[in-house]
Amino acid sequence: MDANVVVMGKESVGKSALTVRLLTRRFIGEYGDIESIYSHSVSVDGREITLNIWDSPYSEKKVQWADGYVLVYSICDRASFNAVCRLVQAIKSAKDYLNVDKAPIVIVGNKRDLHHRRTVLSEEGRLLALKTDCHFYEVSAAENYHSVLMVFDGLVDRMKDAKLTV
Ligand code: GDP
Ligand code: MG
Repeated sequence: MDANVVVMGKESVGKSALTVRLLTRRFIGEYGDIESIYSHSVSVDGREITLNIWDSPYSEKKVQWADGYVLVYSICDRASFNAVCRLVQAIKSAKDYLNVDKAPIVIVGNKRDLHHRRTVLSEEGRLLALKTDCHFYEVSAAENYHSVLMVFDGLVDRMKDAKLTV
């Protein structure tokens, strides 16, 4: 089984860091701006699911391709949070247009380790998710592998619930 996941958000919020963390368990610090599609296998209820994860500065182009979305902002970058607010709306209206409303969206506030530079409150992320029927996590790609794993595990669960991977 295959499921397509697209990682979206403003530049430098940590899209590549999150993706590479999931795939290698490592945080390497600097990532290029290379358009990449990664394959990653997860096992759900004894079944193997291959995630095709699109990490790209141009990920908006992949809206229609996706079965699930990871929308990333940095808790230290207000503009990146505003960008995620706009992305949620854009995806929702694209999905209305395509008549597919089941592809789940996870909103991720990254760089939680930089709490001393925080400009976006956790509550703001949580409220946005509540209002738009998305899920929400605050994570640190730099310091917490487990938090990153929760994001993708959560998404896979919801894609499975949406029966998009059946
Ligand atoms: P992208 O443009 O969204 O793909 O962002 P990158 O993954 O390239 O990350 C941009 C910068 O933020 C890099 O210097 C990363 O090392 C840094 N970064 C990414 N995630 C974190 C994090 O969780 N904490 C901290 N402190 N830095 C991070
Ligand atoms: Mg990147």
